[in-house]
Amino acid sequence: MAGRRPHYVFSVALLILAFIREVNKFKPFGKPVLLKLLNLSRYFLSPSLKEFTLKEIHEQCFCFEAVELLEACYKHNTRYFFKEVFQRLAERSLSTLTINEVERIRISTYIGLVMVRERITEHIHCIVTVPPPVKHHSNCTDIVSCEFDFKAVWWNVMGRLLLDAHYSMFWIPEDAVKEFEKSSFGRMGRGCVMTMMDFIRLKQFGLDVVRERISATANDIASHITEIDGGDESEDL
Ligand SMILES: [Zn+2]
Repeated sequence: MAGRRPHYVFSVALLILAFIREVNKFKPFGKPVLLKLLNLSRYFLSPSLKEFTLKEIHEQCFCFEAVELLEACYKHNTRYFFKEVFQRLAERSLSTLTINEVERIRISTYIGLVMVRERITEHIHCIVTVPPPVKHHSNCTDIVSCEFDFKAVWWNVMGRLLLDAHYSMFWIPEDAVKEFEKSSFGRMGRGCVMTMMDFIRLKQFGLDVVRERISATANDIASHITEIDGGDESEDL
């Protein structure tokens, strides 16, 4: 109800105070101020304040926890940064999420993350167990031995680099290829090694396909968030 809101002069004064306090220190709005402004925009049904605050949060999104941002999307009915935050969360281990955090990001988001992670895990297993077809250099003299040794190195080295639960290099293929390149390739000639490295760099583990899938899942979940310019007047500050 409108009668529950403080007078608008109060809100303007609050905003001016926050602005002066922040500008005087020559630095952007801090996280607590931004969260307060977002709540104020909801309380005063102010689309312009909401848009301004969302832009500010987006610019400083790495100061916020992913869970905090997804919760804000639901609480303030916005898809503003949902997709990229969902991707950020999908690229980390879900075992670090607490029950409380799952409740904050909503069960539908969590199920979407679990499904995406399952597909990513299957994808990584396929990459590790099925080495790419060996492309030989024109100076290769022993194709059979060359392929045999490449596969052995792939299973041993790439398996370790991508399956390490503590630090999978799947999301940073450039670094994984650099590490892989340091391996000893046995009877494989230098020309064939370089040809294969170029091929692996080009493929990037099919990361673009994985990210497309994450993006599609995020869009699907976000489509259930009804975007509202203003806010819910019954919300407490
Ligand atoms: Zn070869």
